[in-house]
Amino acid sequence: MEPMLKVTGLAVSYGHVEALRGVSVEVQKGQIVSIIGANGAGKTTLLRTISGLVRPQNGSILFEGEELPKKPSKIVAKGVVQVPEGRKCFSGLTVRDNLLVGGYLFKGRDLEKDLEEQYKLFPRLKERENQFAGTFSGGEQQMLAVARGLMSRPKILLLDEPSMGLAPLIVDQIYDLIRQIRERGITVLLVEQNAKKALGICDYAYVLENGRISLSGTGQELLRSDDVRKAYLGG
Ligand code: ATP
Repeated sequence: MEPMLKVTGLAVSYGHVEALRGVSVEVQKGQIVSIIGANGAGKTTLLRTISGLVRPQNGSILFEGEELPKKPSKIVAKGVVQVPEGRKCFSGLTVRDNLLVGGYLFKGRDLEKDLEEQYKLFPRLKERENQFAGTFSGGEQQMLAVARGLMSRPKILLLDEPSMGLAPLIVDQIYDLIRQIRERGITVLLVEQNAKKALGICDYAYVLENGRISLSGTGQELLRSDDVRKAYLGG
């Protein structure tokens, strides 16, 4: 089956820094695919390039068999939606307004209905609809950032380090949420330093090392791999 997302030979440089060197990744519809790798391996660059925020020097990105548009807003409109590293919630806006930002490209839609959909998945956000996002904990801000992404009705959600800086219990909650998102039929490309969690949830995974894919396999295969255990799982 043709993959939903097919990245081939992607090369990205920032001046002299080669962040990605010929990266190829495929994501099948309905799957959770993880990219694991150390700090600075190029994970964020990969997501930002797919989202149109960084221009590649080389390579192609096909989504549902077609090249993505160049403009980030048009890429979102196609259903490719990124939840950025560090949440990037608008701290001076309420929960409700943060969510409405996620729907702003879609003025013709019934955004109230979309809000209700998110509140079903995130009851805590409903309870705190009128609170400022800046008063929230890291875990709550992460939930809000994911819900804001879902307001754009993604076909594929690109998640950048959703577990970063969160306590283990909260990380578990975020990962339960990722499972529920997949159950709703949304495909997920997940970038993580937390290799154990990411490999535990995914159907397929890639290891990114210094801008290259060094290894790939099912989550279970990589959890068993000696190289992965030594480098990413503490032995
Ligand atoms: P992290 O987990 O820290 O986000 P990462 O795997 O996502 O790491 P990237 O942020 O994609 O990695 O960075 C890849 C490389 O590109 C690093 O060497 C980084 O220093 C460099 N880099 C990233 N963004 C820029 C930029 N805007 N200008 C110059 N160099 C950059």
